Amino acid sequence: MSAPNIETIVSLAKRRGFVYPSSEIYGGLGSAWDYGPMGIELYNNVKQAWWRWMVYERDDIEGLDSSIILNRKVWKYSGHEDTFSDPLVDCRECKSRWRADKLEDGKCGNCGSKNLTEPKPFNLMFRTHVGATAEDDPDSLVYLRPETAQGIFINFLNVLNTSRRKLPFGVAQIGKSFRNEVTPGNFIFRTREFEQMEMEYFVKPGEDETAHQEWIEACHQWFQSIGVSSANRRLYEQPKEELAHYAKRTVDIQYRFFPEREEEERQWDELMGIANRTDFDLKTHSKKPEDAEGKRINPDSTEDLSYFDEATKQRFYPYVIEPAAGVNRTVLALLMDAYTEKTNDKGETRVILKLHHSMAPIKVAVLPLAKNKPEIVGMAKAIKRSLQPVLRAVYNDTGGIGKLYARQDEIGTPFCVTVDHQSLEDEAVTVRDRDTWEQERVKVADLSTHLLTKFAPEPAS
Ligand code: ATP
Repeated sequence: MSAPNIETIVSLAKRRGFVYPSSEIYGGLGSAWDYGPMGIELYNNVKQAWWRWMVYERDDIEGLDSSIILNRKVWKYSGHEDTFSDPLVDCRECKSRWRADKLEDGKCGNCGSKNLTEPKPFNLMFRTHVGATAEDDPDSLVYLRPETAQGIFINFLNVLNTSRRKLPFGVAQIGKSFRNEVTPGNFIFRTREFEQMEMEYFVKPGEDETAHQEWIEACHQWFQSIGVSSANRRLYEQPKEELAHYAKRTVDIQYRFFPEREEEERQWDELMGIANRTDFDLKTHSKKPEDAEGKRINPDSTEDLSYFDEATKQRFYPYVIEPAAGVNRTVLALLMDAYTEKTNDKGETRVILKLHHSMAPIKVAVLPLAKNKPEIVGMAKAIKRSLQPVLRAVYNDTGGIGKLYARQDEIGTPFCVTVDHQSLEDEAVTVRDRDTWEQERVKVADLSTHLLTKFAPEPAS
């Protein structure tokens, strides 16, 4: 089967309660999406897996949750006020607006005209005002954060002092970011409100390149561990001219989000960026540094964000390695990767979402073969309740067994447990595997151990 395109996923996502177009009853709001009952489970599984891997399984990372609205000066000194912009062009023929660097062959994406204005920078930060002041009062102007990273830099000393860390160490954060994208689109790939999983890893200057390389490999491996196949994932070295103003080197992990595009190179786009941000951020937010003419770069900050190394008695600004991934793009990659079609023995095509077990919204569905038999229903509900403390389980009796299996396959439930007439006699149930459709008979007393073994993480290779 050829890889599904995003349109196939949009339709499955809506049909099965993963993702709905937002504000649909009022005509929608371009590029805003809401996560439904299945979507939020998958979404949370991504975030929890990342946090577990990043914070709990390592000994050198702390967690943080900083504000979405920060003092405007944070964005002044980070460079976002001046430079966080995309090149905007207007089509003189049809009056539509485009991001110049994403236009195919420099032609309008709507009417194909080449009659476009010169690109001009368009700042992507959303503006709002704090307090009960006039809308045009410049002192009340604030931004919704376009990345979570700055919240980490301005808390560098807080985390350092409260956790008594020594270099190298990192601070991780998951949270919403906002960018007024010129041309959002492609479902949840590019939206104006999205969620990021970012970690800033502070190292001694000189140790940055090795640490960067290690994080590139670790992140690549993490996507493997949650089921994003290596065939659709690759590393992309950003050329010098693409690098952000603070970056020494950036490597993206790209996913084949657009398999339908003819030109192979255009099938790939960014899932995660792993940047070496040098000491730019800590320096720029510090009150001390001077520029080449001896002028203080930042007269507004009250702190020096440098680090004192006890061993060498030296003070310096740590370098920062930043793995930054999008939750939404990860969800999209997982859905695209998991989408499979299979023909049953009646010749009908069925969709199976072969999600990695750890990502599946529901781990086990308990189904009664006959919903008009109180003993069978009672037994099935009791099994669901007994499994719930260890595995996300649901009870469902809203259709015939064939329909119920098909529905669970489409939402990626790895196992269905069926209670039938025989179960009342032999205290055993049928366990059906999503991927193979094979069934086995298991004693109810052994069921949770049996299932837990199947969910055990694979040993590291
Ligand atoms: P792009 O080049 O696609 O605009 P970016 O390089 O600006 O992305 P980063 O600033 O590196 O993105 O952000 C880190 C991650 O945040 C990206 O890899 C992506 O997964 C996610 N992300 C960024 N912008 C968006 C968006 N508008 N919608 C959804 N996810 C996004």
